[in-house]
Amino acid sequence: MWTSEHKPVVGVFGFSGCAGDQLRLVHMEDELVTLFTTAEIKFFHMAQSHQEVDHVDIALVEGSINTKKQLEELKEIREKSTFLVALGTCACFGGIQYLNEKDKAFEERFKHVYGSNIKKEDFTVGEAIPPQPLCNFVKVDAMVPGCPIEKDNLLPIYTKLIKGIKPQKYPAPVCVECKLEGNDCLLLHGIPCIGPVVSAGCGAICPSHNLPCVGCWGPYEAANYKSMLDKLEEIGVDKETALRKLKLFGGSKAEEELEKVIK
Ligand code: SF4
Ligand code: SF4
Repeated sequence: MWTSEHKPVVGVFGFSGCAGDQLRLVHMEDELVTLFTTAEIKFFHMAQSHQEVDHVDIALVEGSINTKKQLEELKEIREKSTFLVALGTCACFGGIQYLNEKDKAFEERFKHVYGSNIKKEDFTVGEAIPPQPLCNFVKVDAMVPGCPIEKDNLLPIYTKLIKGIKPQKYPAPVCVECKLEGNDCLLLHGIPCIGPVVSAGCGAICPSHNLPCVGCWGPYEAANYKSMLDKLEEIGVDKETALRKLKLFGGSKAEEELEKVIK
């Protein structure tokens, strides 16, 4: 473990996504000096020139895994890291690119986007594979969901990590934060909000502005999808639309849970 003489070594790595989470780190103007002085940032493509790293104490990893090359790199990062943190909803749950993954139509979708003349193995960035969250391949020690992440959620986790403490998962859905904000529930007005099955952390920003939560913080650990589907149906949302809503940012976790309740 690191000591006062040895600052924790941090690496920020990015795979498939919009890079919004790395950008969020760079935009933490008030905390940047602390961020760069409490740790030794050894690898951060968006903020510095390329550096080789043998070992990082904390790897912050953004994006989902979409190619065999990325998969090799992820495994290498895992081997070199003490703590690996999935940063953002793509890394935590697969993100929008995971949508419909379980319909087994990856080959079809690939052809639809790239045509028949390009093969998956022809990609110079590495052979394409079905998009997956990090935890489907390696051990993930902590998750910071969000699209993009919020610094108020990253910083407590980061602070624990640089002290060598493993953080806990988010213990509540968006509804808890929504109630703390004193909002009138949108579901009671027939507006299809999926806050009950979404991980808290954003401060219920959408329902606080009368907009339904669409789930960009990814699934809440103990979500009750059966009850959510029943409620959406009760307010007139057809099943196909409801499933699409729940899968939009729900990634592998939502797929697995929904499979159990729609048998
Ligand atoms: S408005 Fe949405 S997030 Fe708020 S309590 Fe109702 S269902 Fe939950
Ligand atoms: S969509 Fe839901 S999880 Fe995402 S910011 Fe809005 S309220 Fe939060």
